[in-house]
Amino acid sequence: MSETPLLSAVNLHKTFKVSSHNNSTGVLTALDRVSLQLFAGETLGIAGESGCGKSTLAKIMAGLLKPDGGSVLYKGKQLAQLGQNERTVFRRKTQMIFQDPFSSLNPRMRIGDSISEPLKIAGIPAPMLRKELTRIMTAVGLQSDVVDRFPDEFSGGQRQRIGIARALAASPEILIADEPVSSLDISIQAQIINIMLQMKSDFSLSMMIVSHNLLILRHICDRIIIMYLGAVVESGPASELFQHCRHPYTEALIAAIPGLHTANVSRGELLRDDLPSALSIPSGCRFHPRCRYAVDLCRHEVPKITDHGNGHSAACHLSNKLYG
Ligand code: SF4
Repeated sequence: MSETPLLSAVNLHKTFKVSSHNNSTGVLTALDRVSLQLFAGETLGIAGESGCGKSTLAKIMAGLLKPDGGSVLYKGKQLAQLGQNERTVFRRKTQMIFQDPFSSLNPRMRIGDSISEPLKIAGIPAPMLRKELTRIMTAVGLQSDVVDRFPDEFSGGQRQRIGIARALAASPEILIADEPVSSLDISIQAQIINIMLQMKSDFSLSMMIVSHNLLILRHICDRIIIMYLGAVVESGPASELFQHCRHPYTEALIAAIPGLHTANVSRGELLRDDLPSALSIPSGCRFHPRCRYAVDLCRHEVPKITDHGNGHSAACHLSNKLYG
């Protein structure tokens, strides 16, 4: 793994104005001082419940959404300061895979044209185009004789293969996948995950994968970042995070995984109530209303992110006391 991050985020902040049914408006905090690094060749997982800011983070990292504050750096250079040509390179080198590939495919475009569009933009000459298209389709397990079909003629799993093929056609360095398998059947999920792992190896990719499924992330990621209500609460090597988590929220998420439940308590005991609204972030530690370990300090003081060595860090006042 290289020492220089391929893609990094520094203190990202993002809010959205929302209006309720009675016409009152509020400000929803999607991201609050989020920093991360994606190194060449690694797979980074972003985990947390729905509404924790994962998808917003993915879109900002892919350059599809602008942050209100903070910055994204591509090979050490701020996206906001890239020139026209550098920005074009970044757009091509950083591809996104969406939860619903159907929404990212033109329903009136034959899938052969959809997948080969990035090849044409890259200036691949016509005689080589068909050969390259066949190579990419074969790599993701699609028959080349389906090029003339339209997206609605495919199953969810096949559409996700088309989405991956289209991303690969741009010759990316980085794939950012937002819940790439959450809408698929379990058996198809495994196939798509295996294709992504194979693509990572065959095309020398770096990947950032957003998922609420920690088990999938443990299987495929080198490192995992845990987000809660727009903030990073823990990050570390995937295996270490599972064996020696250092934040009560991570503990609760791991306890919720069927078959992996090692604590002598249920998830209900570990995780009180539902996720609070991002319209009103709790004071002090934002996790305190749901944390069974919370003490008075937690209600008033924001815990700092503390380094626990080996790239493992957590934002909890009681991390050392609870986890040694
Ligand atoms: Fe729980 Fe307090 Fe740690 Fe927050 S800082 S996770 S409330 S123990």
